[in-house]
Amino acid sequence: MDFNVSAHDHQLMDQVDGFVNDRLLPLEQSRQSFDEHDNICEDLLQDLRAEVKAMGLFSPQMPVARGGAGLGPVGQALLYERMNRSIFGPVCFNCAAPDDGNMLVLSKVATPSQQDRWLQPIIDGRVRSAFVMTEPHPGGGSDPSMIQTRAERRGDRWMVHGHKWFITGAGVASHFILIAKTGEGARDGLTAFAFHKDDPGWSIIRRIPIMGPEEHGGHCELRFDGLEIPDENRLMEVGQGLKLTQIRLGIARLTHCMRWLGLAQRCLEVAHAYVNERKGFGILLKDRESVQMQLGRVAMAIDTGRLLTMRAAWRLQQGKKARPDISMAKIQVADTLQLAADTAIQLCGARGYSQDTPLEWIYRYARQARLVDGASEVHQSVISRAYLENGREFFAWGSGHD
Ligand SMILES: Cc1cc2nc3c(=O)[nH]c(=O)nc-3n(C[C@H](O)[C@H](O)[C@H](O)COP(=O)(O)OP(=O)(O)OC[C@H]3O[C@@H](n4cnc5c(N)ncnc54)[C@H](O)[C@@H]3O)c2cc1C
Repeated sequence: MDFNVSAHDHQLMDQVDGFVNDRLLPLEQSRQSFDEHDNICEDLLQDLRAEVKAMGLFSPQMPVARGGAGLGPVGQALLYERMNRSIFGPVCFNCAAPDDGNMLVLSKVATPSQQDRWLQPIIDGRVRSAFVMTEPHPGGGSDPSMIQTRAERRGDRWMVHGHKWFITGAGVASHFILIAKTGEGARDGLTAFAFHKDDPGWSIIRRIPIMGPEEHGGHCELRFDGLEIPDENRLMEVGQGLKLTQIRLGIARLTHCMRWLGLAQRCLEVAHAYVNERKGFGILLKDRESVQMQLGRVAMAIDTGRLLTMRAAWRLQQGKKARPDISMAKIQVADTLQLAADTAIQLCGARGYSQDTPLEWIYRYARQARLVDGASEVHQSVISRAYLENGREFFAWGSGHD
């Protein structure tokens, strides 16, 4: 791996830094910037998105031919952490979950005409999207082979019946990617489809209240009572729903890590500013060894996460699947985000517990990181499987194995 950053990428990073520092960080300080679910207000978001578009940095992860900046996984790793130094950052650049992962998978697997129909409006910021997979008991969660929502073929259409939940963004999404059961095979029993919010035969039962701040459109529970999907809206072949899911979640997990590393760095910055000026018992907090040990521990955890994330991104860029690499990054960065928020709150004293800094927001948000896109325990199993299959090769340098 080459850790040098090109002049072009440096320039993009500086542009992102400038926007985050000058436009977003000041806005975070006003309660008026937030909606009732603790996310950025829609009106303000639209204005900021227009500014990012004018900078040429909206949807930068998308191909140039579709209006993006053509960033590969390494470029994304460089920019996303900088965007998410602000809690408002990723959504302003159209790099937030779930649209980010949905765009990345549609750009890889959808046909050109499906991309015109389902992808381009998300890239342009004209619609939002959602990924519909997880189900309540006894349906599929960590184990997708348990998915029960069924799509049955009727001529050139599919009829969908079932129940899903925790679907991020469903309350405002227009474009949905659905994973449904179409056969009995553990690996080829699922198929993916696109559908539109105005298609009849499905509904939102409720917006599930959660611990942390919510993405736009919340996390919703959905019922399917005969949604009809034309076969032309099937994504990939019949039976390739699990494959689509793996393609989507691989990169989506990693872009979560990229963003969370920015949030973790922000926590450290807030703590840094406080311990730099706060005195107690005759000395500055930053001169206390126990404070230094806490800051050092978090800084090292963040950089460990950055190395794992960048290695996984680099391997993806070499055309590898990098599954164990992504799992390692996901576990490390999810834990680090929680550690960083918790440590920063502790070091900032009562101020850390207040809403005068973004720390309490990040602390509430951080707990989901160990669950979304695969619980940490499931990722440990992925790593273990790769080790058992590859033995010493598991530790090979270079582009590695899958
Ligand atoms: C904020 C948030 C947003 C989400 N957004 C979406 C979305 O947009 N679309 C979507 O489809 N889903 C979404 N999800 C769902 C998420 O992907 C699932 O929660 C996750 O896959 C785990 O599934 P589950 O909740 O059914 O947990 P379960 O499968 O019931 O597992 C419960 C726990 O059991 C343990 N466990 C499970 N399997 C194993 C194993 N093999 N080895 C060891 N321990 C294990 C883990 O500790 C796990 O946390 C979201 C979840 C959250 C919290």
